[in-house]
Amino acid sequence: MEEKLVKEVPKKSENLSQWYLEVIRRAELADYAPMKGMMVIRPSGYAIWENIQRLLDRRFKETGHVNAYFPLFIPESFLKKEAEHVEGFAPEVAWVTKGGSEELQEPLAVRPTSEAIICAMYSKWVRSWRDLPILINQWANVVRWEKVTRPFLRTTEFLWQEGHTVHATFEDAQEEVLRILNIYRDFIENDLAIKVYAGRKSDREKFAGALYTYTVEALMPDGKALQAGTSHNLGQNFSRAFEIRFEDKDQELKYAWQTSWGVSTRLIGATVMVHGDDDGLIIPPKVAPHQMVIVPIYKAKDKDEVLSKGENIFASLREKFRVVYDSREEYTPGWKFAEWEMRGVPLRIELGPRDIQKNQVVFVRRDTREKISVPMDSLVERAEEVLAQIQKDLFSRSEAFTLENTREAKNYQEMKEILEEKRGFVVAPWCGEEECELKVKEETKATIRLIPPEGENVEGEKCIVCGRPAKHVAYFARSY
Ligand SMILES: [Zn+2]
Repeated sequence: MEEKLVKEVPKKSENLSQWYLEVIRRAELADYAPMKGMMVIRPSGYAIWENIQRLLDRRFKETGHVNAYFPLFIPESFLKKEAEHVEGFAPEVAWVTKGGSEELQEPLAVRPTSEAIICAMYSKWVRSWRDLPILINQWANVVRWEKVTRPFLRTTEFLWQEGHTVHATFEDAQEEVLRILNIYRDFIENDLAIKVYAGRKSDREKFAGALYTYTVEALMPDGKALQAGTSHNLGQNFSRAFEIRFEDKDQELKYAWQTSWGVSTRLIGATVMVHGDDDGLIIPPKVAPHQMVIVPIYKAKDKDEVLSKGENIFASLREKFRVVYDSREEYTPGWKFAEWEMRGVPLRIELGPRDIQKNQVVFVRRDTREKISVPMDSLVERAEEVLAQIQKDLFSRSEAFTLENTREAKNYQEMKEILEEKRGFVVAPWCGEEECELKVKEETKATIRLIPPEGENVEGEKCIVCGRPAKHVAYFARSY
């Protein structure tokens, strides 16, 4: 009966959302908590998050950022200081009104994001141009009371990192915003092997309280876009609200310029959706909790020889790779193959008596099922090469899919048809008016996902909705 477990998972192409939930459950990435909308991240899911943290944290530190930690609670009056900010987040804030049996004099918000508490501290810390820039990141949890939830993609509490920086000039802040956007793109494409588009959000879609929001957007297999990370130029909105001022070199007192930026455990959801197949997860080697699994195959008479050779191989690989040696005797090799495929381990190493005779092992790629005979003496080098190839091929597949599903529409009718039938991104000129943006949303359920750098200036093009002169070229899509 255990052999059949894998078959419970529906086909990815037939029912993506059911497949997604089932794969997450079966691969033990997460489970539903008893409270509505909340999830438990299980060890297999958390290990992916730890790899994401490690790879991103290294990039943040290489660019001069440091980590700190701020309180989980934010006084109501702080949250209210920046008008747009509080308006944007009010519907999803959770409140603490009692401590023990005592009513609090002022309710405390459980942070939906930390601008308000961090800015309050920055107003104490920033005095002079010599104090700038401040480049702080924190790894934390946040709470947003969501009505509709889905593991990793949208949950009431989630894990993320949030960077909060302070600068002397607009230009410095803008440079930081784009530097981070580039880090996000580099990380998601190279380490998560997911193709993204990067660009600016429309005013309607920007972060509550920001001057500009920049985003990286990925395309999921059902043709819906997923916002994978955002980087905000906050301008002086928060520094004015929180009195973050510094004496500049010219001895004038000036309001500081700020940024904030974040990615979350949502990236795990994107990785699952983009790469997996009917047999389960496919985790890119750079973030896979286990990059390879060694499965010994033997009959009773060969058992000792195969198991001890397996130990040797395990020892030679474990210094360089995250490898697991599955020598459990209570499961058959066939069961193990299916189980580790479900869990998305990118490379399987099979070892049987005939392989030992030939002084080789057999590699089996999770993504293509390709079998490769590898001589024992080049095990480490070949493993490195094959993992790199898997990483590269996963990205190429995601990139090809995204490009195939990015279409230019000649007119509004065609745009509506694409968004209804094929989905994906539709690239079209836009006049910049919210009226047209809203009309598209009402009639097609698509929003402007981003305006790419090359779409900021257009000459002679007409808005796809109203026909007036276009100001931008925008990417429209339905989204998660
Ligand atoms: Zn228009």
